[in-house]
Amino acid sequence: MKVALLGGTGAVGQRFVKMLAGHPWFELTVITGKTSVGRRYGQVNWVLEGEVPEEFRDLVVAENSLESLRGVDLVFSALPSKEAREFERELMKRGIPLVSNASALRMDPLVPLVIPEVNPDHLYLIERQREMGIGPAATDPNCTTTVLTLPLKPLHDAYNLRRLDVASYQALSGAGYPGVPSYDIVDNVIPFIPGEEEKVENETRKLLGRLDGGEITFASFEVQATCMRVPVLDGHLVAVHAEFENEVDPEEAARLLENFSSEPQSLGLPTAPSKPIHVRREEDRPQPRYDRDAEGGMSVVVGRIRRGANKRSLLFIVVGHNTVRGAAGQAILLAELMRAKNLI
Ligand code: NAP
Repeated sequence: MKVALLGGTGAVGQRFVKMLAGHPWFELTVITGKTSVGRRYGQVNWVLEGEVPEEFRDLVVAENSLESLRGVDLVFSALPSKEAREFERELMKRGIPLVSNASALRMDPLVPLVIPEVNPDHLYLIERQREMGIGPAATDPNCTTTVLTLPLKPLHDAYNLRRLDVASYQALSGAGYPGVPSYDIVDNVIPFIPGEEEKVENETRKLLGRLDGGEITFASFEVQATCMRVPVLDGHLVAVHAEFENEVDPEEAARLLENFSSEPQSLGLPTAPSKPIHVRREEDRPQPRYDRDAEGGMSVVVGRIRRGANKRSLLFIVVGHNTVRGAAGQAILLAELMRAKNLI
């Protein structure tokens, strides 16, 4: 399939470009931007490790317009939310297949918000879009929500989540490029990220919600989140305190996490990790620097799994790569799942 990438020169866009190089199903033919329009992709300010993939060096960054998308089979979006709002609705209205990383459409009742291993059944909403002559459009969640919700899935299925208290320690690349001024973040922690706590609170409940008569009923557990920016380049760490309806045995919980596998694994999708959740038993893991790249950044790493204040509560730490599993890699995996299900 020929694919376009909107906002392809930013922090997430560059991760897409790196992961789409040599992809067996998707051929990246259009990259759009704003300030870099007209430049060869090889001349953009590359902020990732390694070099710009050879095959995209001469691709000229296009304007973000419908005109630029002619002849394309699928559009990935890494646009800032504000810019995504009108444009992504327009794509949906015109029936141009879209998989977006931006928050603009995530809470739309007709748009599936999907982590491929967590709620692939929510893609049923695409059938409803088809009936209305729109889409297909699907979104993937905010980076922190993704890292948090992957391990919650097998635990919620086994013990029934009632209440969630989380604190996130989020990497700088989560703020895009150039992001937070160095003067503000070096030797510091910033205890506020605009809009982030609301996203974690709402998206978690949509992702773990039930598909009910063609609609998503949000899960009913309570969520409280505190989101903070820390001087780490890549990799969000989330400290989780979860309360369940049923009693939890921490050792059994660790085994459930370790053995968790889902549709992307059984379908053998090209970007699927062999194990979406890794469990570390050392008392000082996971750590962003050492664990963010598990299976190329597509797996999250859980550790410090222990009992909380009572038999129904569990504490753990999870680390995941925010621009790989939390953004570009996950969107590519979602598109692969949609392709495998003949939805695009
Ligand atoms: P970023 O580094 O600021 O990049 C923004 C990109 O959008 C650049 O390519 C920029 O192009 C382009 N752009 C800006 N305004 C535009 C416009 N009016 N029309 C077309 N292109 C425009 O941001 P980012 O961190 O990559 O984030 C991109 C999206 O992914 C956001 O919606 C963000 O919330 C979401 N997201 C980010 C993360 C993360 O960890 N960073 C995780 C999950 C989701 P120029 O460079 O040419 O100006």
